[in-house]
Amino acid sequence: MNTVHSKLLIIGAGPAGYTAAIYAARANLNPLLVTGMQPGGQLTITTDVENYPGFSDVIQGPWLMEQMRLQAEHMGTTINYDYISRVDFSKRPFTCYGETTTFTADAVIIATGAEAKWLGIPSETKYRGFGVSACATCDGFFFRNKPVAVIGGGNSAVEEALYLSNIASHVTLVHRRNTLRSEKILQTRLFANPKISIIWDHEVDEILGTQDSVGVNGVRLRSTQDSASTQILDVEGVFIAIGHSPKTDVFKGHLNLDESGYILTEKGETTTNVPGVFAAGDVQDKIYRQAVTAAGQGCMAALDAEKFLTLN
Ligand code: NAP
Repeated sequence: MNTVHSKLLIIGAGPAGYTAAIYAARANLNPLLVTGMQPGGQLTITTDVENYPGFSDVIQGPWLMEQMRLQAEHMGTTINYDYISRVDFSKRPFTCYGETTTFTADAVIIATGAEAKWLGIPSETKYRGFGVSACATCDGFFFRNKPVAVIGGGNSAVEEALYLSNIASHVTLVHRRNTLRSEKILQTRLFANPKISIIWDHEVDEILGTQDSVGVNGVRLRSTQDSASTQILDVEGVFIAIGHSPKTDVFKGHLNLDESGYILTEKGETTTNVPGVFAAGDVQDKIYRQAVTAAGQGCMAALDAEKFLTLN
């Protein structure tokens, strides 16, 4: 396996990683960015982006990420499509092990992001890919003119429901409480959409389906107000949109993480408990989690890394 050394290694290719790369490249740090398995991150499985500043027209998530990659490369970032599966932050230079390359670096910025959460029930696992999905823009196409359910009450769930209403015959949003936590503008669109209905105060008890030709044909819901009360909803697709967890497995035992697995950083900074290792974006932010805040934190990480490299 070959070894490549860089002053600054950036792990992750979402808005945080690419923005860190743009700033670091402009500071002559010659950054090397390792993309991982989903270059572009969560925005590559999003369609319309309306809230990234600078664009008066609706833009597409994958397009935005492509622009960030091009900008990072244009500024002088080297992009490597490897996947980091092991790290050693116990001594400098730090070592990060990829599938084909070992990367050593004087400083590291972690921007590995987050990924969709699952309910964790056996029937969900059984039908995943056969009617159960966590990405409407990836899999919605398979449910043309079919009834589907979306589980959750945040921005993701409402956006998925709105997106699916253009494809499915009907969309039922199922939420465990009786108020949504999504932005008001999305709620207004949701309530006005004649193809979407809402079941409040229910959670998924079991996803139902066929055995011989594996597929979903319903979902049993249980009331969160009266656990003895259940109902069956006839749907052919179930989209789980219940939030995200940080991609930090590889850093367990190497960095301080909080109880949910998010990397702990100093308040108002991107500094981790290991001097020279920084974290930016959804991997350390469970509050804001926006493309624009991730990009801002990527900028902060590059500035923090630059300062560290100057002083050490
Ligand atoms: P979220 O805001 O954490 O919402 C998760 C939803 O799933 C909540 O309504 C929660 O219910 C529900 N939930 C969680 N666990 C559940 C379970 N086991 N069973 C049933 N329901 C469950 O997650 P998100 O919607 O993925 O959004 C994450 C972040 O990304 C947010 O900051 C959001 O603003 C942002 N985001 C922004 C956009 C945008 O700006 N366009 C788009 C997507 C996401 P409770 O409400 O009862 O907790």
